[in-house]
Order: sequence, then C-alpha cells, then structure tokens
Amino acid sequence: MRRFAGTEEGFTYGRTSNPTVTSFEQRLAALEGTETAIGASTGMGAILMMCMGLLKMGDHVICSRSMFGSTLNLFAKEFSKFGVETSFVSQTDVTEWRDALRPTTKLLFAETPTNPLTDVCDIRALADLAHSVGALLAVDNCFCSPALQRPTELGADLVIHSGTKYLDGQGRVMAGAICGPSRLIVDVFGPVVRTAGMALAPFNAWVVLKGLETLGIRMQAQCANALAVAEWLETQPAVSRVYYPGLKSHPQHELAMRQQSGQGGAVLSFDVRGGDPETARANAFHIINSTRVVSIATNLGDTKTIITHPGTTSHGRLTEAQRQAAGIGQGLIRLAVGLDHIDDIKTDLLRGFDTLSI
Ligand SMILES: *Cc1c(COP(=O)(O)O)cnc(C)c1O
Repeated sequence: MRRFAGTEEGFTYGRTSNPTVTSFEQRLAALEGTETAIGASTGMGAILMMCMGLLKMGDHVICSRSMFGSTLNLFAKEFSKFGVETSFVSQTDVTEWRDALRPTTKLLFAETPTNPLTDVCDIRALADLAHSVGALLAVDNCFCSPALQRPTELGADLVIHSGTKYLDGQGRVMAGAICGPSRLIVDVFGPVVRTAGMALAPFNAWVVLKGLETLGIRMQAQCANALAVAEWLETQPAVSRVYYPGLKSHPQHELAMRQQSGQGGAVLSFDVRGGDPETARANAFHIINSTRVVSIATNLGDTKTIITHPGTTSHGRLTEAQRQAAGIGQGLIRLAVGLDHIDDIKTDLLRGFDTLSI
C-alpha cells in the first residue's frame, strides 16, 4: 500500500518500474552526467514520451529538417493532429532557429550529427536560444552516444537515446531512454510511461546493460575505423564526395571535434559518381550488391559494418524533389562502420568500385 502511495520506495508493477530497468537508467544517467534517466521500449517510444510529457494543444516546437525520418513524421503528422505545431529549420543555420521562435515555443529538438549526411549543429548555441525564451532543448544523442558527446554539458536539458543503436551495439534488441533532471524525468515522464505504457522490457534492459560495459572501447575502435575508411574513400576515383565529421573537408569539422571529444563518430556517407539519378542509383546498387563482408541492412550502431542506400530505404517515401532538397541523391551510400578489419571493408567496397563503368 505504501509503495503504491509513493511513501515507501520499492517495485510494484513492471510498467511502473523494474530493478533491471532501474539499473540501466542509473548507469546511462551516470554516463550522460544527468541526475537520472527513464527507459522506453524504443528510441521513438522515448521521443513520444517526451512529447506527451511536455506538449499540449497550442504549443510550438522547432526542429531541424534533417532529423531522423520517423521523428519528422511524429511531429509533422501525429502531433500536428493534436494541435502542436512544428517549424522545420536548417540543421546548421542558428538564425533560422531564432527566426522560428514564437511566444508558444516550448521545445527545440536537435540531433547531431544527422543521418545520413552527418551535418553537425551547435548544441551550446541552440541551448542558449531555447533558454532565452524559457523553452527546453532536447538532443537526440544516438549517433555519438555519451562515449563521445554529453549534450547536457553544453547546456541541453534532455538527452534522447535509441538504445537499439550503439548502446546495445550488436543489433540484438530495441530500447530507448530519456536522460535529464529529476524534476522532468520523475515528475513529468514517469507518469506518462505508467499510463501510456512505452516501458522498456527488463530483458532488453539487461542486454543493453551488457552493451554499456563495452560502449567506450567500441566507440573508439569504430570511430578509428570510420576515419580510416573516410580518408581512403576521398582518394577513390568512383567517389565524388564523402560526408564525415572527422574529415577536414566536412563543413562543421571544427565544431564536431569540439563537441564530440575529437571524434567523427562511426557513420559516414559518400556519393558515387554517375550523371543522372538512374545511373547514380544503378552505380550505388552495384557497389552495395558487390559486397560480401558488410551487411546490407537499415540499422546502424552494430559491431558489424552495415551498408545502406538511403534514397530507397530511410528516404524512399519522399518525392525526388524532397530528396534533392534534403541532399539525398540516388548515388548516396551510407556506411555504419563496425569492428571489421579495415582491409576487409576496403576490399569489399573495391569489388564494386573496380567493376563500375564510369
Ligand atoms: C534509430 C533512431 C531513432 C529511433 O530509435 P528506435 O529505437 O529505432 O525507435 C531515433 N533517432 C535516431 C537518430 C536514430 O538513429
């Protein structure tokens, strides 16, 4: 009775709390440097929990146009039904965020680096902007993980995670979390999970807990591999452009190095040469289908290297014009670099590069 009344600490029912899930929440909070954290069934479940907890009809949100596709849909379609309006702005131009501010703005939501073009936004600048109007800044830290980037140290209020990616690290389970201060996690988001039910399963929490034990060394090793692949790709005649924050050619290289502990992360993309969209797509498919070691899949964050064609998968439902506006050409290939030997990755890509007719 006392536990249900909240006058005594303890576990009552799995949707409310569970010892394994609590253990995951405490360790993730320690890694992010936040007071506490709350688990969710998936990364999208965590974002939904944040929206349900913070927003009501008439509120306004600002987020970048380059956010994760399902995040864009959640705001543009699902939440607009409930009278929450969202402005979509440039990932990198802070003045667009400032110009979009309204008296009703409650939340700025950023993701850095973005998928698949690895654009980096300035967390400190966006936090200052949010706080200047009494709004909150949430950062989706999926691509860097706390091993590289701790957004609350740069002023962010909340950190969102898809535990499905680097936190698990081996593509085994789905999981999500929000990290932040107790006044939001315990008082605002706790009641949302209890009533809406996007709770993290204890088994999944246990798997991700095991993943956290190797997060630091996995990220270091995968970043080193990704940098080596990115530098090599820049020398390949079949490749016209490489997108990777660890490269000096990346437009926000300096900012990325400051925010991300001097690392570029483990995801990179590159454009394959080939004039019109159809030729570019045929060339990209040829390279992807010529691989034997890397996996063709849409996930990322795995110790296995994963190759994807964003134009027909994550961004496949957009019109060609929308894709062009987002900078996702048909020749674009995303590589989420894992722990495979660098020579195996190069050999695998060369199989396609060497037999391309350009
Ligand atoms: C995968 C991903 C999500 C969603 O996570 P799920 O666990 O698949 O629901 C959110 N944000 C980013 C940046 C992602 O890569």
